[in-house]
Amino acid sequence: MKGIYIFVGPPGAGKGTQASLFCKEAGIPHISTGEMLRAAMQEGTPLGQQVKQVVDSGALVSDELMIELIKQRTAAPDCSNGFLLDGFPRTIPQAESLEVFLTKSGLTLSKVLLFEISADILMERLAGRRADGARDDDKEETQRERLRVYEKSTAPLIAFYDARSQLGRVDANGDVETVQERVRELITGS
Ligand code: AMP
Repeated sequence: MKGIYIFVGPPGAGKGTQASLFCKEAGIPHISTGEMLRAAMQEGTPLGQQVKQVVDSGALVSDELMIELIKQRTAAPDCSNGFLLDGFPRTIPQAESLEVFLTKSGLTLSKVLLFEISADILMERLAGRRADGARDDDKEETQRERLRVYEKSTAPLIAFYDARSQLGRVDANGDVETVQERVRELITGS
């Protein structure tokens, strides 16, 4: 299960949870760009200060900055056997840059998993996260903005990866174990 994977899906689809479980099993690093940005914001680093306003509004950080962040992170030694990208790419320019970068580095994308979830269940999960209050960008207005941004900027990635026969679709409705099993089946084919 070593390899390079991308998990895509709307906020609340459960891809972060599944990415974390899958990475533990596969022994590859879980690279969550959202987590990296939140850590930088919490530590108050120059990067954190630079992106805070954008992240808190639910908008996207610039492609240039995100691409640079991913290039640096994936160059670390722990990525030598593969890695999973969660939350990147999020736009077509990011996907195009990643494709060029991987090709230049002699690396091949193993699979892109799209987490598909019904609107009703998504709304329930997002309401649960609001009640949780763990993240500043989980306010109702910001969640709505992030969903809008997903539809506009990220959903076009589905056609991008489908056209390259790299896309697998995961039914993300269900409990964690059920979805975990579906992810495993899609990736290992067993
Ligand atoms: P996430 O934890 O993946 O939902 O990301 C939280 C926030 O971080 C997003 O709403 C964006 O503001 C920012 N972010 C994370 N990944 C990216 C990315 N690949 N491109 C642009 N902005 C991003």
